[in-house]
Amino acid sequence: MPRGRFAPSPSGPLHIGNLRTALVAWLLARHTGGEFLIRIEDLDPATSRPGVARSQLEDLRRLGLDWDEPPLFQSTRRHAHHAAVEQLVARDLAYPCWCSRREIREAPRAPHTPEGAYPGTCRDLDEEARARRAASADRPPALRLRADRLVADRRVTFVDEMAGPVSVLVDDVVLRRGDGLPSYHVAVVLDDDHQGVDQVVRGDDLLTTTPRHLVLAAAWGLTPPRHHHVPLVLAPDGTRLAKRHGAVTLADRLALGDHPRRVVGRLAESLGLAEPGEHLGPDDLLDRFDPSRLPRTPWRLRPRDIEEPW
Ligand code: GLU
Repeated sequence: MPRGRFAPSPSGPLHIGNLRTALVAWLLARHTGGEFLIRIEDLDPATSRPGVARSQLEDLRRLGLDWDEPPLFQSTRRHAHHAAVEQLVARDLAYPCWCSRREIREAPRAPHTPEGAYPGTCRDLDEEARARRAASADRPPALRLRADRLVADRRVTFVDEMAGPVSVLVDDVVLRRGDGLPSYHVAVVLDDDHQGVDQVVRGDDLLTTTPRHLVLAAAWGLTPPRHHHVPLVLAPDGTRLAKRHGAVTLADRLALGDHPRRVVGRLAESLGLAEPGEHLGPDDLLDRFDPSRLPRTPWRLRPRDIEEPW
């Protein structure tokens, strides 16, 4: 049976883009009779607030979405995350890295290395150089994956169910951060597997990180899920949607007078699943849903979309 999920980070209220992705994830799982799960990605205590997770779940429920198991809080899986990273260490697939963000940004890089990719500064240090780096560092090292041992020429190609073929150079992804927390990449791969998820739906800002997840899954011998990256919702100025742009959260929409069924109707309209003005629940969309017909371009809001009732 298919198993889908929605995996919000509890760092702030869900906005229209998050709610729309959640709706697509739910529809994709449910229209084939599959199960649907929620995972709260509270990996980082510095950016996670329990009250936020609760209100995110409430918003999803108010829209009419449901799920089959109690939400999984990612922070409860720390032991499993660390054990899996230690397994890579034992196989000599990891190395400590002391580089700051700035050093990474400013390091000379080989031609074709993507912007922001790790240039490999700490990868091939000999024992002595490593000890020197450790002695002069003012913080503990992160741990990175030796991607070159796993992917010849570092290029990974996969087919996204929505975006089509994607081909990306995989760098030495962080496994454990300097503060000791497992990285998002490690957690997402292990937790999707743990929850038996075989369809991942998320915003397409994460499209180019997916090859890292495929490399990690292969390193642990896991079967990766299929990926569906949903184009983002953009603010009227074309930037990534944020709270400051206007009435973008469910609470904002309700305060403007929109009923939750109107919110679902408007989200559905943006997905080509409803006519203007319809009031709907997610169940009403099951018969209309056809993943192959979902829009492949971002939904750019107009000023009135975030200023006036829908
Ligand atoms: N927690 C991530 C976010 O809120 C999504 C991760 C995922 O779906 O894999 O952007």
